[in-house]
Amino acid sequence: MQSLQQLLDFDRLHVWHPYAAMPSLLPVFPVESAQGVHIQLMDGRSLIDGISSWWTCIHGYNHPRLNQAAHAQIDRMSHVMFGGLTHQPAVALAQKLIALTPEALQQVFFCDSGSVAVEVAMKMAVQYWYNRGLPQKQRFLTIRHGYHGDTFAAMSVCDPVNGMHHLFRNLLTQQYFAEAPQLSVDRDWQERDIESFAALLAAHHDQIAAAIFEPVVQNAGGMRFYHPEYVRQAKALCEKYNVLLILDEIATGFGRTGKMFACEHAAVCPDILCVGKALTGGFMSLAATLTTREISESFAAGEAGVFMHGPTFMANPLACAVSVENLTLLESYDWQSTIQTIASQLKAELEPCRSLAAVKDVRVLGAIGVVELHEPVNMPVIQPRFVEEGVWLRPFGRLIYTMPPYIIQPSELTAITRAIYKIVAQL
Ligand SMILES: *Cc1c(COP(=O)(O)O)cnc(C)c1O
Repeated sequence: MQSLQQLLDFDRLHVWHPYAAMPSLLPVFPVESAQGVHIQLMDGRSLIDGISSWWTCIHGYNHPRLNQAAHAQIDRMSHVMFGGLTHQPAVALAQKLIALTPEALQQVFFCDSGSVAVEVAMKMAVQYWYNRGLPQKQRFLTIRHGYHGDTFAAMSVCDPVNGMHHLFRNLLTQQYFAEAPQLSVDRDWQERDIESFAALLAAHHDQIAAAIFEPVVQNAGGMRFYHPEYVRQAKALCEKYNVLLILDEIATGFGRTGKMFACEHAAVCPDILCVGKALTGGFMSLAATLTTREISESFAAGEAGVFMHGPTFMANPLACAVSVENLTLLESYDWQSTIQTIASQLKAELEPCRSLAAVKDVRVLGAIGVVELHEPVNMPVIQPRFVEEGVWLRPFGRLIYTMPPYIIQPSELTAITRAIYKIVAQL
């Protein structure tokens, strides 16, 4: 067996990490195992995970019920192709998703990751208008500070600055970018917040297949919360101009904002909905794109006669079985009050950060707590500092945030907010 140092040396020279240089310049911490909200490092240290492995493991690691569901499914089959075959886990999961999402969403397309769910949604919108005899509707309207994934179509609707569009200028489709909403959830609604979105729709709706954005919370593009009325007005404008609405709830879905889906804050049902991240409870990768009967039925009449997409590992039975169990678990307790309790504690314990010199803003919505700084964090310095304090957080840009597992205990959440205060105070 190789030593811990040999493992790290090989990793640094040969194994690429997310958004990393090669050889890697940033420290990575080797993980032995994980249990509940704890990540056990190979050097013996234990960390409280404050970001649920990128917002996925809402019920913690190594959950006995998810493990049991996976074991039971492995003994039947871990995978079988989905072309021409179907299986109980996929059907059971589709039934659950249809029941949990807004009423009109009745058709489920399973895919492997969030980015692919967005690709599928965008392709679905374009092909829908093609089916309807409006092939010129191929572009998308989105809002600045969004994040929708790393593949090319998804990238084209990410924030043009954060998403570094200039790097891929000649390859990315030019989309329409409305100004990001400015009004926060607790302010009075003002019409001018949506003027830019409305103007772009009025001018270019002939070319626009769909508007796409993250409802109420913009996540990886800046951890911004905005007024639900924006979502409502955007939906009404889309209807007026014959443009579909795609909502990306890959980050906000499954309770994170205090509603099962963030679109419920605005009582809006999109034409197409993307879910992922917490779907399997962080067990493995799975995502889905849901749509309405009206949209799905247009495909039979179109030139292709079918929807032109079909991943090799579509509806992987193991991932579906674990997701069914994860959603059953979510429905088995009063998750709304769990999220409320986390929100109240985050509000109380992060608020003192506001008085620190380095801090620009503190905000909380559901189980999301954000401390925004004036200056970008220095990752090689700040990441090891959090590890020394025994918590796992992954700040980016000017943002230190927590999106803890729903099973976190008050004392564990306090350990996270204390570490944030202590480290930000030292900046
Ligand atoms: C993470 C994320 C994606 C991309 O999902 P991947 O599984 O990383 O491809 C897309 N949209 C939103 C809102 C996300 O948070």
